[in-house]
Amino acid sequence: MDIHEHQAKDILAGFGLPVPQGGLAFSPEQAAFRAQELGGEMWAVKAQIHSGGRGEAGGVKLCRSDAEVRDFAATLLGKRLATRQTGAPGKLVDRVWVERATPIARELYLGFVLDRKTERIMIVASAAGGIEIEEIAQTDPASLRRMVVDPAVGLAAYQARELAFALGLGGGQVQQMVTALRACYRAYRDLDAMMVEINPLVVTEDGDLVALDAKMSFDTNALFRRPQVQALRDRAQEDPREANAADNGLAYVGLDGDIGCIINGAGLAMATMDMIQLSGGQPANFLDIGGGASPDRVVQAFRTVLTDPNVSVILVNIFAGINRCDWVAEGVVKAYREVGMTIPVVVRLSGTNVAEGQAILRASGLPLITADTLAEAAGSAVAARPKDAA
Ligand code: GDP
Ligand code: MN
Repeated sequence: MDIHEHQAKDILAGFGLPVPQGGLAFSPEQAAFRAQELGGEMWAVKAQIHSGGRGEAGGVKLCRSDAEVRDFAATLLGKRLATRQTGAPGKLVDRVWVERATPIARELYLGFVLDRKTERIMIVASAAGGIEIEEIAQTDPASLRRMVVDPAVGLAAYQARELAFALGLGGGQVQQMVTALRACYRAYRDLDAMMVEINPLVVTEDGDLVALDAKMSFDTNALFRRPQVQALRDRAQEDPREANAADNGLAYVGLDGDIGCIINGAGLAMATMDMIQLSGGQPANFLDIGGGASPDRVVQAFRTVLTDPNVSVILVNIFAGINRCDWVAEGVVKAYREVGMTIPVVVRLSGTNVAEGQAILRASGLPLITADTLAEAAGSAVAARPKDAA
């Protein structure tokens, strides 16, 4: 789960990371008021969306008067901002962050990620900040420093100093870097984060370290024990298909194809997606309905898959171990009638109570396409698509 820049800055400042003074605004007038309230002569006005690359997309501007702050806020608020990361539809800007502008001497990159190979938090830093990490990796890979943190010890001061020296920091900046690194590390660890990124972390003209941007992402599987993080969720920034699925407790990931998938078990779901591609089709989603799916849960899965307007055929693939094919079949029939299905539905059932399940499908009299094997099901789904579908 992602959060906004202003929320990440608020959290990280609480752990001791220096950030500029700023305020949130939901209207142009409020933005101008924030600038007056903050004082100073120059302000950074920043669109708050769950995405990086806002600067190059026109979502960040340095303004020199409160009239300019108000006007720039007016161009952002209520509109969608498309960045390199969001893709064409962009994301709605419903708030801007107004901050006292910081005079920059140097821009650094600082990231905290989970390194799956070592099963540890890894710090990635570069003296070439201000541009996206992917770009740094392309244009200046030699500038990247990586450091793995031993969870039993935590981030040791000597490690933090080593990183500071590697970035060319000196004097009092070294201690400031130790403080900044420790703040990010503790926030990451204590709040079950998946990612903390400060880009840029700047050296000001006065020689101090300040975080000008902050991004945090959290482990959704740990949200149950982090209510204060959960409270920061902004549904308006999420893919509506995935937000809806999460509300219904379904593991759903939206994709670009047109074959809607309703499957039990993550492994079977992955295998089915592979088989669809092998048959010449593209899945519209990953969806795992889980074990012990009641008919109502199956209906909910159909509704979720159908929130995607690109879906032109639905493929149900169930291997029932804990599940029961008769329950799934009941759910399929119920869903078909309730949603007023207009597109082809392919069903492959296997495992517990498969005969009962197939009997329910037959008895329904609905034009369901049935299949016995995974390969047959995928082939039928691809063949059942309307001719004009890609
Ligand atoms: P992003 O493009 O979404 O990553 O948004 P950032 O918050 O990183 O802002 C983009 C760029 O705007 C930064 O890399 C800075 O170069 C610049 N910027 C942001 N705030 C300030 C500021 O207070 N002063 C100055 N001089 N530049 C800023
Ligand atoms: Mn940034």
